[in-house]
Amino acid sequence: MPGMIDIEALCQAKGLRITEQRRVIARVLSDSRDHPDVEELHRRASAVDKGISIATVYRTVRLFEEAGILERHDFRDGRSRYEATPDEHHDHLIDIESGDVVEFHDEELERLQAAIAERLGYKLVDHRLELYGSPLKKRG
Ligand SMILES: [Zn+2]
Repeated sequence: MPGMIDIEALCQAKGLRITEQRRVIARVLSDSRDHPDVEELHRRASAVDKGISIATVYRTVRLFEEAGILERHDFRDGRSRYEATPDEHHDHLIDIESGDVVEFHDEELERLQAAIAERLGYKLVDHRLELYGSPLKKRG
């Protein structure tokens, strides 16, 4: 889960200079159990430190992303969303009605993707998979 990852420790491991504002943003990201966009991250970070600008959040997530600490996702709503790079791979299902993002991992699917790449003459090194769905049952 994204929330289990200590981004601050990862920054130190990667030799990134940690300013106080970056530390706040790193904590907000570490505490996020969802896939927030920059505006949402800014809302959460400025609740801790009012001085943090949205430009600082943009710069910081870009820096973290370039260092491989964060993953950026585009779930087709025109906003980049972020999560701490997970220790274990997962894919996403996006609820097109509520926008909820459900994480899943399926070994059969992982094997199948590797097999398809191999059939095409490639060793699979990475993939992105997003499922888009509407709920089968109406929520109560
Ligand atoms: Zn995720």
